[in-house]
Amino acid sequence: MDAEDSGEMRVIADYKGCQSSPKNGKGSCGSQAGQGDLPSEIWHKVKNHPCYSEEAHHHYARMHVGVAPACNIQCNYCNRKYDCANESRPGVVSEKLTPEQAVKKMLAVATRIPQLTVLGIAGPGDALANPKNTFKTFELIARAAPDIQLCLSTNGLDLPDHVDTISRYKIDHVTITINMIDPEIGARIYPWIFFNHKRYSGIEAAKILTIRQLQGLEMLTQRGVLCKINSVMIPGINDQHLIEVNKAVKSRGAFLHNIMPLISAPEHGTAFGLKGQRGPTAQELKALQDACEGQINMMRHCRQCRADAVGLLGEDRSGEFTTEKVMAMDVQYDLEARKVYQARIEDERAANIATSEELAELAGEMSEINLLAAVATKGSGLINEHFGHAREFHVYEISTSGVKLVGHRRVDVYCQGEYGEEDRLASIIRAINDCHAVFVAKIGGCPRDILINAGIEPVDQYAHGSIEKSAIGWFRDYLHKIKSGEILHVKRGEAAIPQELLISVA
Ligand code: SF4
Repeated sequence: MDAEDSGEMRVIADYKGCQSSPKNGKGSCGSQAGQGDLPSEIWHKVKNHPCYSEEAHHHYARMHVGVAPACNIQCNYCNRKYDCANESRPGVVSEKLTPEQAVKKMLAVATRIPQLTVLGIAGPGDALANPKNTFKTFELIARAAPDIQLCLSTNGLDLPDHVDTISRYKIDHVTITINMIDPEIGARIYPWIFFNHKRYSGIEAAKILTIRQLQGLEMLTQRGVLCKINSVMIPGINDQHLIEVNKAVKSRGAFLHNIMPLISAPEHGTAFGLKGQRGPTAQELKALQDACEGQINMMRHCRQCRADAVGLLGEDRSGEFTTEKVMAMDVQYDLEARKVYQARIEDERAANIATSEELAELAGEMSEINLLAAVATKGSGLINEHFGHAREFHVYEISTSGVKLVGHRRVDVYCQGEYGEEDRLASIIRAINDCHAVFVAKIGGCPRDILINAGIEPVDQYAHGSIEKSAIGWFRDYLHKIKSGEILHVKRGEAAIPQELLISVA
């Protein structure tokens, strides 16, 4: 290790979550942290990483390669046997790959998707329960594509045994799934673990797991590896407890905390799904994330991707890169062409971010008003999706301190050919019912009227404009209308959908 490396490690090890105050008018306590909020060593590692930087996720892509089939623990929310090509959730893959196939696939993806900056191993089992395949894949990738950042996800059980190898392979980003620090709660989430050639169950299993997870986290952060903690929010089991988890991981140097909702549809066949354990509502999830904010950087834009996901977050192009298709592709990894393409992205990115002058225009005006707006986007930080084609809406909180992404809501696509599906519109309205406005590139007359009746303003005047700048412009007008008495500010919170509206669209 050279002196430069050890200095960088010290800076990263000393950085403990959200400690700096915002310098750019935006909150620095999130994956929204900008260049001015972070030490340059950390900024360099996160600026083009779609998961560690919310802003980067509009522009850069990631891919997972499913080279790690075995797992060493059983979680009540996981069933790796179930695969549906349309489904996005961790632990699911359509094909398992060898390290050599994984490298060919990465080269094929990077050639066709030059925004690709990150390769992760996230299963479908546990990356570290398959160390041979995992590290062989990283070794081959580092050689073939030196500009690709390496990521690994683990449940943490075997982590302390692999920390030195992780450092040696320059795997700069590690995600550990930590759902509890109290073994009694853990026993309700994990039926068993397999550790040191022996199966453990109940509280004993959860105790071993939590000790190993926290130990591994501490060892990694001491070595300067950026660590993200994933926690699955399971109402009635660990929801309130996650505030304790948040404090525990922050004190051990975690960089980012990603609290995700439990996915528990019965058809997935998980123990929780079959038992009828519900996941949290979008509002419950946001309330918990808000309660943890300020302690540590919070991630709000996770899409709970498949273990073979490819593309920008929110899109999955894995179907274009099946092993059969990849093996037939002629791939040329052109580092220079990738650099040129990414330099263009950086120009576009800089143009879409609100300037400090634009943010300053808001400061001081009616600072108590804080509202949510949904945005239909296909990426690049722009309002560039038709209302009827949106598969998800990004939800932004807008206030005089700026515009902040606080989540996303998946929906069923409204437009089916030439017509809109009326029952789908009701479910879309339910999904964004706490929002004051929905920003779209285009919207038809019928959904427009129904949204207005539901108290949600459809906004298409900023079509193809920057999300951040448009939201600021709209919010400024909104405040002026309130000042002039043209409209009243009504808090939406979990606003009820008018009964007659539900009937009219049912
Ligand atoms: S699961 Fe979340 S953290 Fe992992 S790649 Fe997808 S968006 Fe990023």
